Amino acid sequence: MKAAVLVSGRPAPEPFLQIEEVPRPEPQPGYVLLRVLACGVCRTDLHIAEGDLPPLRPRLIPGHQIVGEVAGGATAELPLGSRAGVSWIGGVDGSCWYCHHGMENLCDQPTFTGYTVNGGYAEYALVRADFAFPLPDGLDNVHVAPLLCAGIIGFRSLRVAGVAPGERVGLYGFGSSASLAITVLQSWKCEVYVSTRGENHRKMASALGATWVGKEDETPPVKLDRAITFAPSGKVVVSALSALRKGGVVAINAIHLDQMPAFDYDKLLWGERQIRSVANMTRQDARDFLAIAQELKIHPQVVAFPLQDANKALLAVKEETERGSAVIVP
Ligand SMILES: [Zn+2]
Ligand SMILES: [Zn+2]
Repeated sequence: MKAAVLVSGRPAPEPFLQIEEVPRPEPQPGYVLLRVLACGVCRTDLHIAEGDLPPLRPRLIPGHQIVGEVAGGATAELPLGSRAGVSWIGGVDGSCWYCHHGMENLCDQPTFTGYTVNGGYAEYALVRADFAFPLPDGLDNVHVAPLLCAGIIGFRSLRVAGVAPGERVGLYGFGSSASLAITVLQSWKCEVYVSTRGENHRKMASALGATWVGKEDETPPVKLDRAITFAPSGKVVVSALSALRKGGVVAINAIHLDQMPAFDYDKLLWGERQIRSVANMTRQDARDFLAIAQELKIHPQVVAFPLQDANKALLAVKEETERGSAVIVP
């Protein structure tokens, strides 16, 4: 099969991926074989390709927003030929303290799709059957792909931030995840304040009905109840913190931050303000968000790239030039 492979330790930083013929994965008990129909590109893929997340395999097929057709290892929930989705959390041990306490997103021995195991930048992918989700009808393959990580983890961020209906919520950065979260926030009658660097992203936020849109160094005109930061920058976390009311929460939706700058505790954190990270997702987050996405008819803007152009897709995410979520179509 054809696949985009990240070979660790290559001298040049770009192009990140080699397009190659590799053996198709063999079906195994407990796994489903998916014929990949589309695979979303996430900023995490870029962190993996650039080495911000340490390489765990000498050769890796990235990609963790997989839309596939069940081609082997069918189950009652996922019959042969049906459509399934796979996200970043590709498995847990089921036995650690976190798994026993309803926090499988924090599992001590997790499997991450397209990082600890091969992912979906390929024609086929083998995934754990209990971590593949039946996909709702109503969205085609390319449009459902960004829901699988950007959507689910964006939704989890709203939960971690403790957003209640009608609140004032800041979104810092406006890529794939934020552009999906805004629809959920609007359905909860929240006011949404967007600060973001990319001009395309500011246009997209306005078009999607944000209450206020500003550049990354601009401060929203009101105090926020909650803020979610999507940019991989500690400076942005401090900006978000400085816009919060007392008792407000900043949730950091970023697997990697450059660094956290020092900040003034008395002014910024005192008053029971909180900073929380958002780590991974549970299967329940996935099922809940996919149901909400179907109910709200969330229809992301996407830009499709053939597998051959996987490097271009990663670059578009890096340079924030994409006018929608990048999706690879094998
Ligand atoms: Zn566990
Ligand atoms: Zn992701």
